[in-house]
Amino acid sequence: MAGVETPPRIGVLALQGNVREHAAMLRRLGAEVVEVRKPEQLDGLDGLVIPGGESTAITRLMRLYGLEEAIRRFSQPVLGTCAGMILLSREHLGRIDVTVERNAYGRQVASFEAELALEGETEPLRGVFIRAPRIAEVGPDVEVLAELDGAAVLAREGRTLVASFHPELTEDTRVHERFLELVREEMHVGA
Ligand code: GLN
Repeated sequence: MAGVETPPRIGVLALQGNVREHAAMLRRLGAEVVEVRKPEQLDGLDGLVIPGGESTAITRLMRLYGLEEAIRRFSQPVLGTCAGMILLSREHLGRIDVTVERNAYGRQVASFEAELALEGETEPLRGVFIRAPRIAEVGPDVEVLAELDGAAVLAREGRTLVASFHPELTEDTRVHERFLELVREEMHVGA
């Protein structure tokens, strides 16, 4: 129907970690949210969010539930935050050409907040970093959207967007909005 947008259906991997906060933010932005615990729950989704938490725990559960291969094959946009970014990196699912170092922001400053300059915008973004992974290397096709101390903290390659911080823990919805833009582009291409 002209003028009526179908809301995107977004899965949030719900094995461990910050599931509720992502779901609430996505709903606020007009998405329909599905909690994903089984491979078949990925069918028909327009996008997937892999939240932060503990990457070793999420990896173990993902294997246990047969989700690793299913997420590798999932072709729609994916947003990974913190531990979710670790899982999407070169060493794990390989959906984005970055290498990451876990817990690399040091013990004393293990959790902190920082103002980030967001590419293409004047208003800074407040990044909440919790035992965050550091992006050590980015491949040639990766677009860096925000940096902290010379290291990328928000990056995109094709349909994959990753953040080393926790955009779901602030009121600022811009990272999720960017993700939903990718989702909507793909929905239009596929329509
Ligand atoms: N330190 C966690 C890990 O390495 C990530 C922390 C987070 O997601 N907040 O898996």
